[in-house]
Amino acid sequence: MEKVVIIGGGYAGIYALRELAKNKNIQITLIDKQTFHNLQPEVYDLIANKSNIADVTIDLTTLCLGINHDYLEYKNLNVKKIDKKTKKIYTEELEIVEYDYLVMAAGTRTFFPPQIPGLNSAHDIKKLNWAMFFKQSFENQLFKKIQDEAKRCDDTHIVVVGAGLSGVEIAAEMAYNSKMFFKRGNFSCDNLNISLVSSSDTILPGLSPKLISMSHKRLKSLGIKVITNTKLQECADNHLVLSNGTKIYHSFIIFTGGIEASTITSHLDVETNRRGQIIVNEYLQCPNDEKIFAIGDMAEIKNLKGDLMPPNVTVARISGTNAGKNILNHIKGKKLIKCDPKLEGTLIALGGKFAVGNLYDLVHVEGRIAYEIKKYVFSSYRKPLLKLIKAGYNKLKSYKV
Ligand SMILES: Cc1cc2nc3c(=O)[nH]c(=O)nc-3n(C[C@H](O)[C@H](O)[C@H](O)COP(=O)(O)OP(=O)(O)OC[C@H]3O[C@@H](n4cnc5c(N)ncnc54)[C@H](O)[C@@H]3O)c2cc1C
Repeated sequence: MEKVVIIGGGYAGIYALRELAKNKNIQITLIDKQTFHNLQPEVYDLIANKSNIADVTIDLTTLCLGINHDYLEYKNLNVKKIDKKTKKIYTEELEIVEYDYLVMAAGTRTFFPPQIPGLNSAHDIKKLNWAMFFKQSFENQLFKKIQDEAKRCDDTHIVVVGAGLSGVEIAAEMAYNSKMFFKRGNFSCDNLNISLVSSSDTILPGLSPKLISMSHKRLKSLGIKVITNTKLQECADNHLVLSNGTKIYHSFIIFTGGIEASTITSHLDVETNRRGQIIVNEYLQCPNDEKIFAIGDMAEIKNLKGDLMPPNVTVARISGTNAGKNILNHIKGKKLIKCDPKLEGTLIALGGKFAVGNLYDLVHVEGRIAYEIKKYVFSSYRKPLLKLIKAGYNKLKSYKV
């Protein structure tokens, strides 16, 4: 029986898993260092206190139990190294897992430029424990403001460094949420400031000028100070220094400056780009090993026109399904399918029930309608997974009786 191992139970890994599980005669192992799939795009709701941990996670044990397959197992392991020659995966827990086919879906992490002194590499917004830390820090700041109200203390300052999609969404959600907090409580101390720092000459570099200007307008209306063409130079406990010479005293800082792929590829002898993403062919295989596939953020994926695909959920889902199909085809000796991701658009949540977006490069949407579309897209992803974890949970409970 062929052994297929997926490293990473994120968006890409789960889509590959669901496709692979259609073949009941292979052995599938899902490995993830976390016990849950982190719904990263929904984390801004968590930080702004609009949702809780259960809303932004999918339990991997119950998910795998809920999938109807006799030879599927989930292993909570942290992969350290892969030996291509012996087809063995080495883990921090010292367990060794063997494979015939390998799906690399370990995603990326925040890149912390080593040249910035004091930037603590542990503050990674992509990790749920740090999102929880930011959520608590944010709440503490709001509470501190009410406690110090009578003293009319100095402004509190939160700085978000990096004005890509995640930085912009988090800044907007915190600004909106704090505004609502002070308004609801009729508190007079609403001097909580949020700055968004971009090293480019604009926020959301790479997106259409119309989307940028709609987002900029919204950030301004929320009172966010947008600082462009400026780099973070130094980061200390209570202040940071920017390349324009400004020193900002901050209560806390969120760094979303860039991404880099997991280092587990370092012994794999595969070609990677400057972000460490694995360069794959049109079938999502590593060119020098037809039984190793890379998907999602971890891979450098192009469409058939040769355009580089951005790391996002749509590309992760499409590449996951495609790799799953191709492994099943490869096992049966059938022709492989080329991966040609099509982006349906971009939707940016900008605080409360407000979003802006661009659909199929044809139409721009703004306000409540854009927000509802974004919510619908993410709930349609989550719904089938919730069904599976419920089935898995019921199975687990029946074992215990
Ligand atoms: C704050 C934020 C907001 C975002 N907003 C959007 C948005 O609005 N729209 C959008 O399309 N995209 C958005 N993204 C990007 C999106 O989340 C990613 O593109 C997507 O998560 C990629 O999926 P993936 O499966 O490739 O990787 P991931 O979802 O990162 O999954 C990788 C998995 O691999 C596991 N793993 C990593 N290393 C190891 C190891 N050594 N051993 C075992 N397991 C390992 C991890 O635990 C994780 O479960 C956002 C990201 C962030 C951080």
